[in-house]
Amino acid sequence: MLAIRVHSFGGPEVLRLDTVPALPAPGPTQVLVRLSAAGVNPVDTYIRAGNYGPREFPFTPGMDGAGVVEALGAEVAARRPDLAPGARVWVCRSVTGTYAQFALCEMHQVRPLPARLSFEQGAGVGVASLTAWSALFQRGRARAGETVLVRGASGGVGQAAVTLAKAAGLRVVATAGTPEGRALVEQLGADVVVDHRAPDCEQRLLDAAAKLDSRAPRPANIPAGPDVVIEVLANVNLAKDLALVGFRGRIVVVGNRGEITLNPRAAMARDASVLGMSLMNLQPAEWEEACAAVGAALASGVLTPRVAQVFDLADAPRAHERVMDPAGALGKLVLRIPAERER
Ligand code: NAP
Repeated sequence: MLAIRVHSFGGPEVLRLDTVPALPAPGPTQVLVRLSAAGVNPVDTYIRAGNYGPREFPFTPGMDGAGVVEALGAEVAARRPDLAPGARVWVCRSVTGTYAQFALCEMHQVRPLPARLSFEQGAGVGVASLTAWSALFQRGRARAGETVLVRGASGGVGQAAVTLAKAAGLRVVATAGTPEGRALVEQLGADVVVDHRAPDCEQRLLDAAAKLDSRAPRPANIPAGPDVVIEVLANVNLAKDLALVGFRGRIVVVGNRGEITLNPRAAMARDASVLGMSLMNLQPAEWEEACAAVGAALASGVLTPRVAQVFDLADAPRAHERVMDPAGALGKLVLRIPAERER
């Protein structure tokens, strides 16, 4: 089969299209998925560059994908009747990597893909939507009627966060860096959208939070602010988040690309919490809960991942350049995987 493989850490050029031997038959709890599309995430670039833990070479990158079930391990049919051979599925995380024609997955990594969604959309579900849901509801403990600030709402995580928050009855203040990104976020239902490149961004966020404030009583000296902040670039924004989060607000750090100097007094003054979250840290029951919530949102039509750009599998290096390009995010980047009968 064809697979992108990394033979040594480095820039996008280390992503090589190789012809590799067929994958082994699935183990008892595993599923072999014939992939039609793979999703590209920023974390794929950190792993490719060697910034995310050791790896054995060569390896196939990619956490997200979509396709059809090709073969099942002995225990799967009884435990997961939704994963019959031929079933359309989306995949998040896998044993062998998703930038390939086939991926071997543990059954908990494979979920049904509703007929209304294309494989390319399916490849955009996993990392972004599960992260957004977990950040909002597991780490951030967001509740209906609260206000959430989604920083970086034009990206994969941000778009899912806006959609899922609105569907759960939250009020949403969101930021994006381009006019196209802000228009998209408005279409998703954000109540207020602010340009995070504008010099008056923080003041506009404060004004928006005051307008949307719905909180229970708070000390008179603490201004209105969002109950939850979904933060995708903490090294740039965390100090600002602490300056505007509401009383007993929860700032969930989803993304970070550097260091920052903070005055912890800001957290103290508001009883605010800063919570890290990584999708990799979800425990089995939390993973099931997040997958069930995202699965329901997909099935009901609430959540539809937006595919911003599709690349051929062989163009994975260009997709890695694009996903780290600050030009302006508009949704998910996806690799189209050529069909291949034999594995
Ligand atoms: P993405 O699709 O590339 O989106 C990046 C987002 O960051 C865009 O919305 C972009 O807005 C925004 N952004 C750029 N400059 C910003 C600023 N100064 N303030 C606020 N936002 C800014 O990436 P993604 O998939 O959504 O992931 C976002 C981050 O979360 C990445 O760092 C990723 O590694 C991380 N992440 C973490 C987890 C986890 O488990 N913790 C899971 C998934 C992702 P514009 O382009 O409109 O300027």
